[in-house]
Amino acid sequence: MTTTSMTTTMTSSFPAEILHRAAALLEQRRRPLLISHPRPDGDTIGCALALRLALLQIGSQPLLACVHPIPENVAYLPGAETYVSDVPEDVDIDLVIAVDMSDLSRTGGIYKDAWCGKFPLLVIDHHATNTAFGDVNLVDPDAAATALPLAALIDALGIPLTGDMATCLLAAVLTDTRGLRTSNTTPEVLRFVGQLIEAGGDYAGVMEKTLDSIPYRQMRGWAVALDRLQLDGQLAWATFPLAEKIALGIEDHDDLDLGNLLSRVAEAKVMATFLEMRDGTVKVSLRSRPGYNVAWIAKVLEGGGHHQAAGCSVTGDLDAAQARVLPLARQELAQHPGEGLGAADSATFARVSARR
Ligand code: 5GP
Ligand code: MN
Repeated sequence: MTTTSMTTTMTSSFPAEILHRAAALLEQRRRPLLISHPRPDGDTIGCALALRLALLQIGSQPLLACVHPIPENVAYLPGAETYVSDVPEDVDIDLVIAVDMSDLSRTGGIYKDAWCGKFPLLVIDHHATNTAFGDVNLVDPDAAATALPLAALIDALGIPLTGDMATCLLAAVLTDTRGLRTSNTTPEVLRFVGQLIEAGGDYAGVMEKTLDSIPYRQMRGWAVALDRLQLDGQLAWATFPLAEKIALGIEDHDDLDLGNLLSRVAEAKVMATFLEMRDGTVKVSLRSRPGYNVAWIAKVLEGGGHHQAAGCSVTGDLDAAQARVLPLARQELAQHPGEGLGAADSATFARVSARR
């Protein structure tokens, strides 16, 4: 087993007092419940799995829960098979840990009201919109992924990093930075990734299995979404009707990673995807180029996220959701007058087909 210590510069930006309080909670409590957010991504899953492995080393018995199934591209990570989709209110736990989520509603109902004041709540996160809803909030909004504050915590506990833990953390950081592409991919992030590889993390495996493996169903879904792609000036968006999801056998918890697909439209500064759900809501994913902020749009609509990647759920049909979100997206674009394309150029790029 390869092990390494993470005594690094990573911890330096974090208030030592919060790290120590979080570490003390993990040392005192032996039956923590780790919750990953709905429509889970590599960060929430990779972090919970890395923390599970770390806590097993100090004799804890962590329990992992997520309301939605674990996506194929992270299901191979060690411990992914131990996730449960819910727990009863009287479950035998003594600590709750919210992983990679900005507010309590993001546990998807796994957190039970009766636990409030009974078990301490530890929040490990990096969302700009985090509401500090825990008793201890290990939240670094400057971090590219929750994996960074989590690694600092594991280091503070003095737990050596194994190859398996490093692989889980690689899945987390490589997912949230879209393969080290995002503007928050700092030298610190690259050093962190280097340390994870040195610790025995399977970088090539994560790149291949997590980032470069798209299920056929998802690719077919991309075909539908791309056929419906629209561009108006610097705003790109696509809608995905429920009927198309049903035809392809796509469940509501599967967002097809459409937000990240659209984030690459060259002409666009702000991108939005609209997926119609079976419960009469529309799941909205927002993305933006560096310097453009979509977190406030999601927040206005009772969602949350980061400046460049945020989301929310809106009640109503696809037309109603577009009518609420697109004007806000245009408002953000209007904050940056004179940048990018002129009116004539954007007209040339506009593709609005009669079918829509
Ligand atoms: P995505 O668009 O990929 O679902 O999410 C982008 C980012 O926004 C992620 O960090 C995710 O946690 C956050 N996010 C997405 N939907 C919601 C939501 O409904 N509420 C909150 N608070 N955050 C969300
Ligand atoms: Mn994250």
